[in-house]
Amino acid sequence: MSQYYTAKRTRGVYDPKSDEPFKLSRSKIDLFIECPRCFYVDRRLGVGRPAGFPFNLNSAVDALLKKEFDIHRKNGEAHPLMKTYNIDAVPMAHKNIEIWRDVFKGIAYYHKPTNFHVYGAIDDVWVNPKGELHIVDYKATSKDAEVTLDAEWQMGYKRQMEIYQWLFRQNDFKVSKTGYFVYANAGRDKKAFDGVLEFKVTIIPYIGSDDWVDRTLKDAKETLDKDAIPDASPECDYCAYRNAAVEVIRSAHAKKEVAKPTPPPASPGKKKKEKSTLF
Ligand code: SF4
Repeated sequence: MSQYYTAKRTRGVYDPKSDEPFKLSRSKIDLFIECPRCFYVDRRLGVGRPAGFPFNLNSAVDALLKKEFDIHRKNGEAHPLMKTYNIDAVPMAHKNIEIWRDVFKGIAYYHKPTNFHVYGAIDDVWVNPKGELHIVDYKATSKDAEVTLDAEWQMGYKRQMEIYQWLFRQNDFKVSKTGYFVYANAGRDKKAFDGVLEFKVTIIPYIGSDDWVDRTLKDAKETLDKDAIPDASPECDYCAYRNAAVEVIRSAHAKKEVAKPTPPPASPGKKKKEKSTLF
């Protein structure tokens, strides 16, 4: 087992009897929408999905974009790209910007009806002359076609933006419905790599609606409060894989048991310790 993964956690597990506010990140809210069962197994039963490998190239693009926009934030001016897209705003200079970007803190709000402490880390926030905030998210990809937000799987990006808009509104900021994705697309049409990736950076506006957030938090709370585990999504290949793996391993063990000669009865008082042999 990798040093980075704890298969059975005791921290961050929801206890329906506890009065302590429960910390819920925006990515776990998204997990709930994706599959209430996986969310329940993770947050209530303490078994989360193993994380994938870190996307180091994407993180590098994020870090460099942050540095670049920070130069303009410091100078109180728009980034040239914002001018190209006629965006009348500047990167917001605020004492909490680094806290809002911190994955362990982020922009946070205590949601009383659920007793959840909801939080999420933003990439950037811009402010327009009316004092309205535009939430900004940086994305990196590499594709031949123009980048868009039209794919089904990008719904998660849109929800991410909407939760951040909701969080800022709950913190009494005036938030524009329009957020921006700053998309860096690495070109593949050069003759050779030569140790250089060239990116085309575009800004895609997105009009968000956070109407669903309050209801979803209440649904998530209801799910966590129940003792019944929600159904698995029939669309998910992982559950099909998990069930099939358990089934074949059980049946392989059962065959081994049948083939084994019957052991002599254990002498009274000497009970052999049973080992879990499922995997
Ligand atoms: S269907 Fe199963 S593996 Fe897939 S997301 Fe849901 S609980 Fe997780």
